[in-house]
Amino acid sequence: MTRPSAFSAFGLSPNVFLIKESNDIYSENPYIYAIISRSSASDGSAFTVPQGTVILIDTGCGGASNDPGVEITSLREFIETVDIRGQPLNPGGSMNYLVINTHCHYDHILGIEDFFLQDIPEHSLCNFLHIRTPVYRPSLVPHGHTIGDTGITLLHTYGHTPDSLSVYDPTSTPPRLYTGDLFYENEPIIFPSEGSIIDWFHSVDMLTEFISTKTKDMQASGSCHQHNQRSSSMPDMLPILNRPFLFSEL
Ligand SMILES: [Zn+2]
Repeated sequence: MTRPSAFSAFGLSPNVFLIKESNDIYSENPYIYAIISRSSASDGSAFTVPQGTVILIDTGCGGASNDPGVEITSLREFIETVDIRGQPLNPGGSMNYLVINTHCHYDHILGIEDFFLQDIPEHSLCNFLHIRTPVYRPSLVPHGHTIGDTGITLLHTYGHTPDSLSVYDPTSTPPRLYTGDLFYENEPIIFPSEGSIIDWFHSVDMLTEFISTKTKDMQASGSCHQHNQRSSSMPDMLPILNRPFLFSEL
């Protein structure tokens, strides 16, 4: 029997899944992405990715649900025990994890403690909300760092916060770009006290150039695909980058 969960998952492509955390007490409804990487990856840095790794992009709000009937509040338990397409995303926890936080705001890190440990109470806005800060240990890498031989590249797209990342994955079908809180679908883009709209425009310019180059490469190789919510395939990303946006301060 299926146990009620704070999470639900949807396949975006054979190895990419969107995990939605719904009805959370913060009304954030965060999106979490899971990429099942089958490649073996070791670049000698902090990021050594063994064969068979679940790459998580953000970890949501920690399963704090408005629904008292929810039984599965751990993202890790959901990933390891709940059937998605006939089996859990990581059956029995047999695969390792690599967690990429697009930035440290609470709605991206509250579920991370199942995976890592360290401390960032202020800039996560956990102090602002008077909630306990998860403890985890991040690794810092330079802009453009590729994780082992996974082909997944980390881009420093500051603006919403100084630490914001975007994640480019050319290995999925279609290739995808994950932008964290750099863009929202239906809300004004938020700038907390650490944010900068000037930096945001720098990042959008950088991404526009990056995506233009990748789009040309894809068109040259004849591989163009459809787009999905909050993660976009390359050809669809340029219209989004060029769209007028609303802005607000936190
Ligand atoms: Zn944020």
